[in-house]
Amino acid sequence: MRTVSHWIDGATSDGESTRAAAIWDPATGAQQAEVRLATAGDVDAAVGAAAAAFESWSQTSLSVRTKALFAFREIVSRRADEIAGLITDEHGKVLSDAAGEVQRGLEIIEFACGIPSLLKGGYSDQVSSDVDAYSFREPLGVCAGITPFNFPAMVPMWMFPIAIACGNTFVLKPSERDPSSSVLMAEMWAEAGLPAGVLNVVHGDKVAVDALLDHPDVAAVSFVGSTPIARYVHERATANGKRVQALGGAKNHAIVLPDADMEFASQHLASAAFGSAGERCMAISAAVAVGSAADQLLPYVEAQANAVRVGSGRDPESEMGPIITAESRDRIVGFIDGSEAQGADLLVDGRGLVVPGHEDGFFVGPTVVDRVTTEMDVYNNELFGPVLSVMRADTVDDAIALINANPYGNGTAVFTNSGGAARRFVRGVDVGMIGVNVPVPVPMAYYSFGGWKDSLFGERHIHGPEGVDFYTRGKAVTVRWPDAGTPAASFDMPTAT
Ligand code: NAD
Repeated sequence: MRTVSHWIDGATSDGESTRAAAIWDPATGAQQAEVRLATAGDVDAAVGAAAAAFESWSQTSLSVRTKALFAFREIVSRRADEIAGLITDEHGKVLSDAAGEVQRGLEIIEFACGIPSLLKGGYSDQVSSDVDAYSFREPLGVCAGITPFNFPAMVPMWMFPIAIACGNTFVLKPSERDPSSSVLMAEMWAEAGLPAGVLNVVHGDKVAVDALLDHPDVAAVSFVGSTPIARYVHERATANGKRVQALGGAKNHAIVLPDADMEFASQHLASAAFGSAGERCMAISAAVAVGSAADQLLPYVEAQANAVRVGSGRDPESEMGPIITAESRDRIVGFIDGSEAQGADLLVDGRGLVVPGHEDGFFVGPTVVDRVTTEMDVYNNELFGPVLSVMRADTVDDAIALINANPYGNGTAVFTNSGGAARRFVRGVDVGMIGVNVPVPVPMAYYSFGGWKDSLFGERHIHGPEGVDFYTRGKAVTVRWPDAGTPAASFDMPTAT
């Protein structure tokens, strides 16, 4: 059986660990490989390599750093299909979706290629007589990234291109459920000329995560995953004095107004709810029909859900693949069972779906649950599956209030042809990322990505300008070159003269 090992100090490493976890093939239900689970000693080796590499990488010129980024960009671009293939085989998402994930990661690398401009500081001539001032930003040191299973390549690429471009070194702890693409990317970095130790990958579970959160040589932690773990990571790492951004889970609502184009809205709702089997933090899991919209919308949504082609991610005909594990599938099915028991209407039922030739795969078909209320478990939990709850609100303001009462605030969208209603929605919702007739409003690389409330712990969003800010800290310098005319020192607080 294939074993996925760590990548420490520029080479594959089995580490000292004897523990391992299974990597499943979600489309067949069979185990395809195993991944080593790091000990605290393995994490220490990776952090040590990163700390040693920081000494020289932080002093490496901007142009040399940028050359490595451009070379990495070329390699990822040329070998994007290999990364996408690994994602599909371990995560299960369809190949075209995996290719889209790699493309969004590439855009972050391209953003990071502009690091000389992004790190330009400020300069003020003559802030006082014969005194000038300037500011610039320096890297933090060893940064850690802890990432989820659902975007095994893109989420690490939200982090390490920018951290490394800024002059930091990095230890990535990817999801143990689909870890192979992170090792392939580390090999690509090495091929791009990145010195050994600048990027390290340790695989593992809570043991590895805790070792990173407690390690005195880790300066900053970027986490993306579920809300309970995000909250825990934020609390533990900040208590240890680290800078932390911890992105959590989501419950994303799309509201549909009666004036919307219902065919357009239903197509986009289906792609946002069922794309990647709903395993996206920006998936739409609740559609809120406002006023009379429900009666017009529901027949379209039902037709769209029934039309989704579900199958292996390697089958080019498939639009939606399996769920990551049998355990996750059973959890999703449990919530669908519960919604029926709690009085919702099951409009489209994806339970028990069998894909011919993949009878043991972890599949759940697209599911639409109507007349969901805020008391139901199907609403109050992040299912992370292909389940769309349909809810009702009398007015736009009622819909906004419903969204704002939810603990999450990652993404949301409005379908309407009214600019005024859309503007009211955009300004009224307590949510970080908003789409107007765009149901999955993932910000481009040159903006920053982040939710509000229980969807993000910490002050800064990820990638884009806030990413550069997160991975650096500022210095402000005041300079004088005294000559014969320079006034004598005073004991008073210095003021400009
Ligand atoms: P997860 O929280 O289970 O795991 C995320 C990471 O934390 C993994 O590397 C995992 O090994 C580690 N981890 C798991 N349990 C831990 C524990 N007890 N202690 C320490 N570390 C632990 O998340 P997941 O299932 O891999 O990913 C799905 C979740 O991620 C969803 O909630 C989804 O909404 C969220 N997500 C959020 C965003 C965002 O940008 N906000 C993006 C992608 C995914």
